[in-house]
Amino acid sequence: MTCGHLAAIEAGCETAFTVDASRVTFGAGCLAEVGARARAAGMARAALFTDRQLRALPWFEEVTASLRAAAIDVAVFDEVAIEPTDASFEAAWRFAAEARVDGYVSLGGGSVIDTAKAANLYATYPAPLRAYVNAPVGDATPIPGALAPHLACPTTSGTGSEVTGIAIFDWLALEAKTGIASPHLRPTEALCDPRVTRTLPAAVVAASGMDVLSHALESFTARPFTSRPAGPRPMSQGANPWSDIGCREALRILGVHLVPAVEGDDHAREQVMWAATLAGIAFGNSGVHVPHAMAYAVAGRVREFRPAGYPDAVLVPHGMAVAVNAPSVFRHLAHARDREAAALLGGRDLATRITELMRAIGIPNGIAGVGYTAADIPALVARTLPQQRLLANAPSPMTRDVLASLFEQALCYW
Ligand SMILES: [Zn+2]
Repeated sequence: MTCGHLAAIEAGCETAFTVDASRVTFGAGCLAEVGARARAAGMARAALFTDRQLRALPWFEEVTASLRAAAIDVAVFDEVAIEPTDASFEAAWRFAAEARVDGYVSLGGGSVIDTAKAANLYATYPAPLRAYVNAPVGDATPIPGALAPHLACPTTSGTGSEVTGIAIFDWLALEAKTGIASPHLRPTEALCDPRVTRTLPAAVVAASGMDVLSHALESFTARPFTSRPAGPRPMSQGANPWSDIGCREALRILGVHLVPAVEGDDHAREQVMWAATLAGIAFGNSGVHVPHAMAYAVAGRVREFRPAGYPDAVLVPHGMAVAVNAPSVFRHLAHARDREAAALLGGRDLATRITELMRAIGIPNGIAGVGYTAADIPALVARTLPQQRLLANAPSPMTRDVLASLFEQALCYW
């Protein structure tokens, strides 16, 4: 552990880190607590964010029944897009403003939770969309203060959005995947009920499980928090002793349980949801880096790929878009922590172990597996370079040439 190290103090580097997290309740049946929690948070009229598919599942009924039993009025918004856009964010916050709610409940995957975060932000502190969006795409104006309470109930085990202060969306006119990042966006509470993962298609468990794996690996290998100059502390602080704890345990769990979870084992699915929670808390404090920066390009320029197990649409699911870059990035970085990470995952060489897991759970073979060729690489690089918030968190410099070589090495692995 290097924190408080004399050399760091003398060099004017950061010497401290902050531990931030939502209040987390984890375990089978905890969705039934949402009404009492909402009441305790002071809600009398809540906006419930979900999507059409979830609305047809029993979890939706369970959440609304719990809210009603606590005498809370519910206004439902079920028009969340699979990958949120500027237009879907705006529709969500118009709904929230008109519904005059005093709190938010989200039931869904990362897209639903992110949409609720944005609706809460813009309904509480109205502004043009670009105001709070990360630079250089937006103005990165600081959020003025606390938002209304938000209880997040994840229904996939991947994004970690229920415990992070990040909301990601596609800005269609600008052809940019960007987001809003602030501790104020972090949900007040996360209610993680692993029963919801029992009915997920195997392909969704596989893609979101690889997202968890990459959150843990990227946080574990992010540049250390002590390498930043002392000064205002960003949310993505870099690897620190707190995030390391969650990363190690998430990697150990995934090494044992990811494959059985995809194959349908309920206990393994519960374990993977716990790994997702731990990795989410970890990267919410340390930040992710290159595989995620590249993933926004991979997801954004998709032409024909239609993943099995998802609603019929041309898209690369987030976890899949991240996974196809991961072996290439980790082979290039050759990080001092690779051996430990590989051992936690049950292997010896990190890139090889990631590739083994991808093959075992049906993740496509590199970026060629989702439809790209070498001719696409300059465009993919051009879309990755603006992700400065992520690239700056990498343990070594990410130039245009390095990124081009990373995409080349990511074309296919087997
Ligand atoms: Zn992710």
